[in-house]
Amino acid sequence: MPGFEFFGEAEKQQVQDVLDNGILMRYGFDGMRQGHWKAKTLEQALARRMQTQHAHVVSSGTAALTVALASAGVGAGDEVILPTFTFVASFESVLALGAIPILVDVDDTLTLHPSAVEAAITERTRAVMVVHMCGSMANLEALQAICSKKDLLLIEDACQAIGGAYKGKPLGSIGDIGCFSFDFVKTITCGEGGALITNNTTFYENAHKYSDHGHDHMGNDRGAEAHPFLGYNFRISELNAAVGCAQIQRLDEFIAIQQKHYTILREGLAAVEGMTFRTVPEGGEENYSFLNFFLPTETLAKKAHQALGAEGIDGCFYWYDNNWHYYREWEHLRNKKSLGDLPQEVVEQLPDYHTTDFAISDNWVGRTISCLIKLGWTEEDVHQRATKMVAVIKGCI
Ligand SMILES: *Cc1c(COP(=O)(O)O)cnc(C)c1O
Repeated sequence: MPGFEFFGEAEKQQVQDVLDNGILMRYGFDGMRQGHWKAKTLEQALARRMQTQHAHVVSSGTAALTVALASAGVGAGDEVILPTFTFVASFESVLALGAIPILVDVDDTLTLHPSAVEAAITERTRAVMVVHMCGSMANLEALQAICSKKDLLLIEDACQAIGGAYKGKPLGSIGDIGCFSFDFVKTITCGEGGALITNNTTFYENAHKYSDHGHDHMGNDRGAEAHPFLGYNFRISELNAAVGCAQIQRLDEFIAIQQKHYTILREGLAAVEGMTFRTVPEGGEENYSFLNFFLPTETLAKKAHQALGAEGIDGCFYWYDNNWHYYREWEHLRNKKSLGDLPQEVVEQLPDYHTTDFAISDNWVGRTISCLIKLGWTEEDVHQRATKMVAVIKGCI
């Protein structure tokens, strides 16, 4: 997944452009910036690559999710359905708006289980946030059918799957709004950054205004601009956007390398009896940032994960016990523990996550091991890694 492995001359040149003219801000200063518009250029490149009408770049993936929800009108007391297996940013973005994160099970795709989504819909549900975890996607056709039947927004969190596709369309471009992260460990990076893409012009207009204090961005005098609604500051700096301008050009090169490494590992591991790979929905094309597989039992998965670590095979994750990616360790959410008081809607409507039953998720995530695919490996490295992994896992089963 990490684009930071390949931080090179192109990235440095883009940053140098910004340093040379000294305009570190994405808006205004038209005369002084000598034609350098890094955030805008990144937006144009992203919209083109993702085949959407609009792209808007912000300060992080978490900001992108928050702005996406806000732009679509999600607010206090609205329920947003999201998976038990994700990153904490998913529920943080919902809570930031006073909305209610409704966790539901994942299935063998390691993303939202369509029937679990359907069962969680209430009169207050406004949106379904699908998270394409670890390089692969949900059954988007099933989720789209549910959302259109119930008139719900479909927000795609494609932060971990940029460059993947579903039925020929880039991930992120399929729902009402798609979000990406360009933080330091993502497939392409800005250091810190994020983006949303959409074909909905109203959502896009709301997004660029909301993420810049409500500025309507009309005319050439920032101070004189109007503020049609309350906003916030989720702007990206030109320095960060500059890195992204170089990295977006390399996205397809990175994906091709990941696919090559992933394929070698997968073909090697296919020799291990009893192990199965994560389900990729029909028509899905992963971004190959992780290779994800299931062991027959939770006990064996724990054992295999430990053994892989002990043998020095780095980059293998066991999410079931992870603090940041699985609901079991989110006691701060469960206990509604913030620094100040939470909005009344959240206090009253948040489900009691001490008592909810996510046995279906536990069955899948408890047996999952994910291996990060690195760009910098040589082909020889990957073959050796595959051989070692096969031996270690066979020794455990
Ligand atoms: C990284 C990530 C985010 C948040 O992105 P940041 O840029 O770190 O704020 C959101 N969702 C998922 C699934 C992620 O992996």
